[in-house]
Amino acid sequence: MERKLVSIQRIDHLEDIPGADNILKARVMGWDVVVRRGEFAPGDACVFFEIDSQLPEGKAWAEFLRARSFRVKTARLRGVLSQGLALPTSILGGAVPPLGTDVKDALGVVKFEPTPSEGNDVAGPFPGQVPKTDEIRLQSALGVLDELRGLDFYVTTKLDGTSSTFLRTMEGELVACSRNWALKPGKHPAWRVAEKYALATVLPPGFAIQGELCGPGIQKNRLGLGAVDLFVFSVHDTRTGHFLGHAEHIAFCERHGLRSVPVEHVVTGEAARTFEHGLEHYLRLAQGLYPGTKNRKEGIVVRPLVERQSPTLGGGRLSFKVINNDFLLKDEE
Ligand code: ATP
Ligand code: MN
Ligand code: MN
Repeated sequence: MERKLVSIQRIDHLEDIPGADNILKARVMGWDVVVRRGEFAPGDACVFFEIDSQLPEGKAWAEFLRARSFRVKTARLRGVLSQGLALPTSILGGAVPPLGTDVKDALGVVKFEPTPSEGNDVAGPFPGQVPKTDEIRLQSALGVLDELRGLDFYVTTKLDGTSSTFLRTMEGELVACSRNWALKPGKHPAWRVAEKYALATVLPPGFAIQGELCGPGIQKNRLGLGAVDLFVFSVHDTRTGHFLGHAEHIAFCERHGLRSVPVEHVVTGEAARTFEHGLEHYLRLAQGLYPGTKNRKEGIVVRPLVERQSPTLGGGRLSFKVINNDFLLKDEE
C-alpha cells in the first residue's frame, strides 16, 4: 500500500513539554509530533505530514520550513522527538475532508526522493508480474499489530542499501530491476550481483527474488562490505502470485546459494501467543548496531511466518518496518 504522505488525521492527545511555553507534544496515529501551543485541542482534525514530505515553495503555511529546504524531517525539540508535522486544517482553505483523506496533491506536496535519477540505466518499466518493494512504517498503520497478534512471525534486520528485484520470466529471460525500473544490462550493481550469483540460470523460471543491494558506493555502506552483495528479503512466485513463507524462503536461498537478510527473531507457539505487540516494544527491538560494526542499524522488518493479507494495508501483504529512532536522528538531522 502507498502510504499517505499527507492526510487528514486526528490529534489524539496533547501534553506539555517541561520548560517549553510555546509548544506541545501531540500524538497523531502512532507518531509523536511537536505542535504550536493553542493551535489544537485534543480530538481536533489536523493536516498530518509524514517524514519526507517535501512542501511546496511559495505557500505561507510552509514558509517556516524554508531554512530546512521545505522538507519534513525527524527533529528533536526541547528533548522531544518530533516525527512529522501537524498543521491546522485551515491551510486547506475550504471544507475539511473526512479523516484519512489524502491531501498530498491538493497541497502540492511531493515525496522527498534522495536518489539521483537512474536515467541512463533504465531499460523499461518495472515488470507487472511482481509487486514493487515497499514497507509501511508501523507508526502509520498501528492496526497491523492486531492482525499479527497470535500469529507466528519473524523479524529481520532492515538493511540500508537500495532495493532490487530479479525476475526470471517463464521464457527464461532474466530481468534485473531497481526499485522502480528494469535496468539495462551493464555496470549497474544489480547486474553485477546477477552475474555473481548466476541468477540467469539459478532462478527457476517464473520466480522473482527481491533484496537489498549493499556495499561500497551504496548509501553509506553501513555494513562495511568490501564489495556489493545482495541480501534477499522476498521470493515471489509469479505463477501463483504469492510470496514464499519464511521457511521456504530460507530453503530457497540455501538451495540456490543466495544470502537472506539477517533473521533476528523467529517467534512461534506460546512465545508468539504471549508476545507484546506494542509500539514501544517494537521501537526497542529496532535499536542496535549492524553486527560487527559501530553503525546503528536502520531498523527491522516484521512479517508473519506465512504470507497473509492485511486489511489495514488495503489487502496487501502483512509486513511492516520499524525504523530505529537513533538512526533517524543521527542521519536525517
Ligand atoms: P519511506 O517511504 O517510509 O521513506 P521508502 O519508500 O524510502 O520508505 P524504505 O524506507 O527504504 O523505503 O523501506 C522499504 C524498503 O526497505 C524496501 O523496499 C526494501 O528495499 C528495504 N529493505 C531493507 N531491508 C529489508 C528487510 N529486511 N525486509 C524488507 N525490506 C527491506
Ligand atoms: Mn525511506
Ligand atoms: Mn531504503
